[in-house]
Amino acid sequence: MARFIFITGGVVSSLGKGLASAALGALLQARGYSVRLRKLDPYLNVDPGTMSPFEHGEVFVTDDGAETDLDLGHYERFTGVAARNSDSISSGRVYSTVLEKERRGDYLGKTIQVIPHVTNEIKDFISIGEDEVDFMLCEIGGTVGDIEGLPFFEAIRQFSQDKPRGQCIFMHLTLLPYLAASGELKTKPTQHSVKELRSIGIAPDVLVCRSEQPIPDKERAKIGLFCNVRTENVIAAYDLKSIYEAPLAYHQQGLDQAVLDAFQISPAPKPDLSVWEDVADRIFNPEGEVKVAIVGKYTQLEDAYKSIAEALTHGGMANRVKVKVEWVEAEIFDSEDVAPRLQGFHAILVPGGFGERGTEGKIKAAQFARERGIPYLGICLGMQMAVIEAARNKAGLTDAGSEEFDHEAGEKRFTPVVYHLKEWIQGNHKVKRKESDDKGGTMRLGAYDATLTKDSKVAEIYGSCNIEERHRHRYEVDIKYREKLEEQGLVFSGMSPDGRLPEIVEWKDHPWFIGVQFHPELKSKPFAPHPLFADFIRAAKDNSRLV
Ligand code: GLN
Repeated sequence: MARFIFITGGVVSSLGKGLASAALGALLQARGYSVRLRKLDPYLNVDPGTMSPFEHGEVFVTDDGAETDLDLGHYERFTGVAARNSDSISSGRVYSTVLEKERRGDYLGKTIQVIPHVTNEIKDFISIGEDEVDFMLCEIGGTVGDIEGLPFFEAIRQFSQDKPRGQCIFMHLTLLPYLAASGELKTKPTQHSVKELRSIGIAPDVLVCRSEQPIPDKERAKIGLFCNVRTENVIAAYDLKSIYEAPLAYHQQGLDQAVLDAFQISPAPKPDLSVWEDVADRIFNPEGEVKVAIVGKYTQLEDAYKSIAEALTHGGMANRVKVKVEWVEAEIFDSEDVAPRLQGFHAILVPGGFGERGTEGKIKAAQFARERGIPYLGICLGMQMAVIEAARNKAGLTDAGSEEFDHEAGEKRFTPVVYHLKEWIQGNHKVKRKESDDKGGTMRLGAYDATLTKDSKVAEIYGSCNIEERHRHRYEVDIKYREKLEEQGLVFSGMSPDGRLPEIVEWKDHPWFIGVQFHPELKSKPFAPHPLFADFIRAAKDNSRLV
């Protein structure tokens, strides 16, 4: 039976609750425990799949095809535990399940209420798979006091009462603002936040205080006294140069020890932090630098491409170089020439995306990389754009395009080299979609196998001809153009096992030009960089010696 750690936040949002949870997960693993991390989000969207990347950052996709919050990406990157559909829940999903049950008559005519029906649904969710791990870490999105969050706070309060004493603890993150004028760290907002939490029946066992300045012992003792938390359980969280420093930094501040003490686990197993020491060494002692341009569409908000940015960092760590990323808005190439903007980069990455805006710029970026021999990694839409570029400029299909853009514009303008897939095989069953289906969850989502061509560059990079990667898209490159494109040297080097869906393309006579229909960035970890990103950065490093 798992022990439960509930992680809440107060004072302000964006305190790094997800990172603290992920780092704590990694520290518990370093002490030999198994962990699983969960996110409970108070917003009313059923899942983040249909939320704009500008609003919510990246949508993180799990192996079992759930579109989840980007915090699940942090969890995976720090613990290596593959997230599942059952690790992410929102108020929207809770309410829609409750209402479905009500319509089906499952509640036998009872009046449906937040307590107990909604809270029971949340509690059932929290306990899924509780026998599988030593620790279950559940992060509650938002901050204490938010109206939408109340059912979640009530549910975790009840949950801790339902369980035997000592099986659940509460960890609360707050901010200690620093007033430069008086040179003081202020503890009052933390006191108020804990008061708010206690007013709904939750007393924190561990307090994590974000602070720009060192927290003097006197202030720690004061926080402990006013918040009814043991002084040694008041943990400082200082700003870090890299997120990958977090496990070591939190360990140094005593977070894992405080958590184990709160569970009265004594003696605590000794941690083995060698993995994180190696990660920190690679981050802080690079031997060079490479410059990578990401030609994308949601470039004003870095969180929109969170996993890609992290995977590039991991690729740099594998090669002991710092990866300097520059975000280039694809739309500028509608009016500007690509060469002045893109020359000087050691590699170009075109990420995933939806809709037509910016796609002509991405096509130009792919052409530039192909013609100049610059390493190019095209991910999902980035692969589709590379294929359209090849069709237009090499195979003579000058009006090649994607059905996605015709659908959006409501008129037929292109020869669909990329088409809308409505039927495919998942495992051993067929999935069918209609044009009119809901926008949510109607894509080819989650992990799918691919078979790689022997002797291809990708087979060599992966060191295998059988891979499994995560997908999130509606459109596919049309196999009927394979021959025409291969004649030009664009090799279809990865296919779905039934041979129908192109998964990877690569230019034969190019130092490094690979397009993938899936999202390799979702599986990259600092201690296990994804092979495609590791080799992409190796190629960028080689190129940097030439530029
Ligand atoms: N818009 C494209 C599709 O749906 C690509 C999606 C993506 O890049 N994730 O196929």
